[in-house]
Amino acid sequence: MAEEQYGLMILGTGPAGMTAALYGQRLGLNTIVIGDIPGGSTYMIEYLANFLGFMEGISGTQFGTMTFQQAQNEGAFFTLTRLEHLSHKDTLFIGVDVDGKEYRTPSAIVATGRVPKRLAVFNTNLRGVHFYSICDGPLCRGKNATLDVVGSDNAAAQHALTLARIADKVLLICRSDTLIMDAVHKNQIEQQNNITLIMSTEVTGYNGQEVVDGIELTSKEKDQQNIAVDGIFLAIGSRPNISTLNIEVQKTPDGYLKTNETLMTSVFGLFAAGDVRDTDMWHVLTACSDGAGAAK
Ligand SMILES: Cc1cc2nc3c(=O)[nH]c(=O)nc-3n(C[C@H](O)[C@H](O)[C@H](O)COP(=O)(O)OP(=O)(O)OC[C@H]3O[C@@H](n4cnc5c(N)ncnc54)[C@H](O)[C@@H]3O)c2cc1C
Repeated sequence: MAEEQYGLMILGTGPAGMTAALYGQRLGLNTIVIGDIPGGSTYMIEYLANFLGFMEGISGTQFGTMTFQQAQNEGAFFTLTRLEHLSHKDTLFIGVDVDGKEYRTPSAIVATGRVPKRLAVFNTNLRGVHFYSICDGPLCRGKNATLDVVGSDNAAAQHALTLARIADKVLLICRSDTLIMDAVHKNQIEQQNNITLIMSTEVTGYNGQEVVDGIELTSKEKDQQNIAVDGIFLAIGSRPNISTLNIEVQKTPDGYLKTNETLMTSVFGLFAAGDVRDTDMWHVLTACSDGAGAAK
């Protein structure tokens, strides 16, 4: 099995990983970054409007590409692959990628972000359930589609607004009776006349043969109803992406990696940055801040 040794290994190529790579190189560490998507989750952000320095905002894809290039220019070594597992032996962390290649390092930063949750309802095997409106929304363009977005936060708002430009009609279905999105998003949703808000209602099933063509809705106020839809976009939260970690490390009850003030986890030399760690701000800016702190 091939084997390489580095001063710092960063797992994840999102804003946290990219900033950690930039700082790692500038601090003189021989840095390797392992990740499968350059820019990480930023490609799902249609318009990044809350990052300092971009007065007019910037597309997430463009931002991700720029940060990837910047970290590369700084000299960090990138390998665009998927890490199968990360383990710890003696004083070294050992990463193994999908091709069986081994990477060894005395310090590692986990910046693997989060993965979206799915609904536990009937017919989950059907096609037509999506998580990324920017990628999958255009498939419905020109089809007079009715699309369903499930969720009540900023991510749900962004999906609904993106899809409202593609579909005839967007149903935004929220389980609770309150929206937990920024006021800016709330206003935009209210002004968009092809978005219908359906509050206090749960999606309890998917209808269709091979592809979803409808949903079953359940609420306290109304009888159960079935509505025809051409696609579903889920924004019902996420869970930390830690399946590659073969290391006993302290986590929150939800599985997020616990860190101290230097962003080190309970394992000496193992750090965590960005969405994967115990934080209450899942933003690009805070992920970058974490990346810098963890590398330092
Ligand atoms: C729809 C949507 C809209 C958003 N809008 C905004 C916004 O407007 N403003 C804002 O500030 N934030 C926004 N966010 C949140 C923002 O994208 C995240 O907070 C940020 O990307 C977190 O950065 P990160 O580096 O921690 O993780 P990520 O960006 O998720 O990057 C993690 C990376 O690790 C990789 N990875 C994971 N496991 C492995 C493995 N085993 N092997 C190889 N690679 C692996 C992943 O593929 C990914 O590339 C939005 C998120 C979504 C989903």
